[in-house]
Amino acid sequence: MWVAQWNRLPTRNRLARWSPVPDKSCLLCGTHDEDRDHLFLRCSFSEQIWKKVTRRLGHRPFLFHTWTALLDWLHLKDRTSSLTLRRLAVHTTISKLWFERNNRLHNSRSSTPMIIFKDIDRTIRNSIHTRKRRRKFRNLMSHWLRFS
Ligand SMILES: [Zn+2]
Repeated sequence: MWVAQWNRLPTRNRLARWSPVPDKSCLLCGTHDEDRDHLFLRCSFSEQIWKKVTRRLGHRPFLFHTWTALLDWLHLKDRTSSLTLRRLAVHTTISKLWFERNNRLHNSRSSTPMIIFKDIDRTIRNSIHTRKRRRKFRNLMSHWLRFS
């Protein structure tokens, strides 16, 4: 299950439990220690992306302050956005944020929230397109494009 997978990501704060890490600061904002909840949810950089993602799902833009809040929202029955689309959006957003973080760490290359959101959008469209024959994905493209 992907949630468990993200729980074990080697964020700088996690690595510091086993050996001293010279710099524990977040690679996206540089102002806070990097742990899972900060990196993916509370970082000002990530927040800009979540606002765009939640807006595209049809919600008034909002933010998650804890991992539990994110998971609760993922399991909520909600008329605004389907469960499948919400899961796809969350999974894609987390993946792209982790990729951005690693790109900064290993390649010294960085993107903007706008460019990352465009990449998220493209990835979600492609995922829906390749699964369009599955029942759960049948109407997702129009849902995802509804608020674009
Ligand atoms: Zn940060």
